[in-house]
Amino acid sequence: MSNSISEKKRATMNTYNRFPVRMVRGKGSKVWDEQDNQYLDYTSGIATCNLGHVPDYVHGQVKEQLDLLWHCSNLYEIPNQEKLSELLSINSVLDQVFFCNSGAEANEAAIKLAKKYAKDQGNSERTEIVTFKQSFHGRTGTTMAATAQEKIHQGFTPLTPGFRYLPFNDFNSLKEINDGKTTAVLVEIIQGEGGVRPVNSDWLKELDKICKDNDILLMLDEVQTGIGRTGTLFAYEQYDVEPDVITLAKGLGSGVPIGATLAKENVAASFQPGSHGSTFGGNPLAATAGVATMENMVQEGFLEEVQEKSSWLNEELLQLQKSYEVIEEVRGNGFLIGIELSEQVGTWINKFREKGILVLAAGVNVLRILPPLTTTKEELNRFIMTFKEILSETEGTTS
Ligand SMILES: *Cc1c(COP(=O)(O)O)cnc(C)c1O
Repeated sequence: MSNSISEKKRATMNTYNRFPVRMVRGKGSKVWDEQDNQYLDYTSGIATCNLGHVPDYVHGQVKEQLDLLWHCSNLYEIPNQEKLSELLSINSVLDQVFFCNSGAEANEAAIKLAKKYAKDQGNSERTEIVTFKQSFHGRTGTTMAATAQEKIHQGFTPLTPGFRYLPFNDFNSLKEINDGKTTAVLVEIIQGEGGVRPVNSDWLKELDKICKDNDILLMLDEVQTGIGRTGTLFAYEQYDVEPDVITLAKGLGSGVPIGATLAKENVAASFQPGSHGSTFGGNPLAATAGVATMENMVQEGFLEEVQEKSSWLNEELLQLQKSYEVIEEVRGNGFLIGIELSEQVGTWINKFREKGILVLAAGVNVLRILPPLTTTKEELNRFIMTFKEILSETEGTTS
């Protein structure tokens, strides 16, 4: 593959280590670069293109909307925004929705909501939100502070105050939550960026109980796990818990930027005109993409097929683990899969790309596999065959 990107200084800020590949189009599980090389995209644009690239139904709906109205501000009713709110509330235990444009903003809204809720309840001494080690909640000033990873804070102090970090999945520290200062906990069901670490279901249940008993809000960051990624529309459905707030973004618009904060009615009531807002949030174009995406997700049999395909993939990966020592662990749920290796994954990601498959890292030694939910058995098989090939090649060169 030729490295076509010149050495001259880019006009774009250097916030990402970009691979020397220039993507120009996509369809289904595939993307193509400028030289027309085809790749199987098992990153889904980082858990975003859950229906694959340019999915037909969403494409049709957005194209129709493009001819009608793109934006009009939230000072007017937006029919598709209301429709998307209804779809989200009917299909979840939450009642009302606030729309924004990204995961970080969805968490910002949740954090503001939690603070306001405490004050509205007469608990103005409750100013803290508990988050967990290795979490990831976004890159804005406040969500970066909510993110309990030092490397993300580096250079950006002073941090927004009001966050307390506890160890993830640790039963002992749960009792520290109810110290009279906590208004909410914010937690991922699978820590995506933090290494694909699933929550312990008993721990989450215990956390939920402590929250319920003490009027502390249970807020689930489902920005990565939501919208079918784990085989159910929301990952929390697979646990015996009832969140007060969930946040969504990545998969919600099939790649059209949109974020959402869903809350129980009594919590949502803390937002009134003037409390919060977003110019673009849930605009006609983004809301249309959201409605079409949701309609696709809740179609009879769609998620069952995701469960079936993802268990097949999981089985195959567990088989590989038995044959290759370099695979330490296979974890995750549905199509959010982490493969922990006994070495750094950088070269592995490059090997996959050289063989036409895009995969991600989650930390230094975890490969993160995020196939589109619509991926075919044939594509899954190709992924497994390619992984086997790389494993065999690598085994020859190491040990
Ligand atoms: C990606 C992600 C975010 C941040 O989303 P942005 O759209 O990049 O702001 C927040 N939380 C989780 C769990 C994520 O995976």
